[in-house]
Amino acid sequence: MKPIYYGRQEITEEDIQSVVEVLKSDFLTQGPKIKVFEEKFANYIGCNYAVAVANGTAALHLTCIALGVNKDTRVITTPITFAASANCVRYCGGQVYFADIDKDSYLLDINKVEKLLKQHPKGFFHGIVVVDFAGYPVNLEAFKKLADEYGLWIIEDACHSPGGYRVDNKGKKQSCGNGNYADVAVFSFHPVKHIATGEGGMITTNNKILYEKLLLLRTHGITKEPHLLKENHGGWYYEMQELGYNYRLTDIQSALGISQLKKADERLKKRQEIAKRYDKAFKNMKIKIPQVIKNFSHAYHLYVIQVKDRLGLYNYLKQHTIFAQVHYIPVHLFPYYKQLGWKKGDLPVAEQFYEKCLSLPMYPSLKYEEQQYVIKTIKNFNK
Ligand SMILES: *Cc1c(COP(=O)(O)O)cnc(C)c1O
Repeated sequence: MKPIYYGRQEITEEDIQSVVEVLKSDFLTQGPKIKVFEEKFANYIGCNYAVAVANGTAALHLTCIALGVNKDTRVITTPITFAASANCVRYCGGQVYFADIDKDSYLLDINKVEKLLKQHPKGFFHGIVVVDFAGYPVNLEAFKKLADEYGLWIIEDACHSPGGYRVDNKGKKQSCGNGNYADVAVFSFHPVKHIATGEGGMITTNNKILYEKLLLLRTHGITKEPHLLKENHGGWYYEMQELGYNYRLTDIQSALGISQLKKADERLKKRQEIAKRYDKAFKNMKIKIPQVIKNFSHAYHLYVIQVKDRLGLYNYLKQHTIFAQVHYIPVHLFPYYKQLGWKKGDLPVAEQFYEKCLSLPMYPSLKYEEQQYVIKTIKNFNK
């Protein structure tokens, strides 16, 4: 059996052709493909604005700058995420407060967040970074209510959840990252994610002011827009108005993104079918499968199980060329965050989750026989 990884990209001949077309064109970067990708992605997610950037981490960084994060800013987030969800606050000098997760959804526990908010005077905290961990949508309706009460902004880290959605109280579908509840959302196009561009990211929002700020920050804080210039010396003239970065996505990557996006729905369906087969296979075993409650549609970036002998199963699968992975090592337990004062025992639910979690192979091109082999191997281990 050839190696089976926990996630991988799928590149078609059409994807390759779309990239080749750009390579033969006049623009490798800063050309027309970026805008097309942004418009198509905004349309897919159902938001007003999208800004393509170099990667998901750059998306988070720019978002924090645009929201005004600085050394006096305090932000709450989850420890069960990729480190970048917290690091982005640190890039701007802000302070990260981790709150514990819910033991069944594995998402930031709103009750713990509320408790933390109540322990401090109003105005102490400034924002929350929520993460649709594994592709399971955060209940943003509830978080928005809380955020409004305390005057907080919300960043939705939707890197795991393009295509995931909740059905709201009025029966309306609310796609992850659509900007109706969070101020801004971020996506990643790393090859293990739903849509692959090599490196790549996207920021989505319905806030025009934030959108324009993000465009400026993405490219050095430089503008050429005549109506924004303080002076104008002629056709060559541009101004650097803020301290920005070069966080652009190239046209080469955008072309790949546009092509990949065409298959997004079909591939999401495949992920959900794979999840269903795992769910069924493990139903009567001592394996905890991902929770999915009514009105929530899981995007299954990851299929995370909880097992008692996680290390044993991980090694056994590896011996059988199945490369499962662990998502995530709690961020607050990394040496960097420990040095800032976090320690083992601070977030017991997240730490218990970490002891038992394992991400099984989950990607649209995982073949039926390959998945059966994974399931059979897990069953053999548990005998
Ligand atoms: C992948 C990921 C990121 C970072 O995206 P990159 O494109 O790798 O920089 C941020 N947050 C989460 C939850 C992710 O999974």
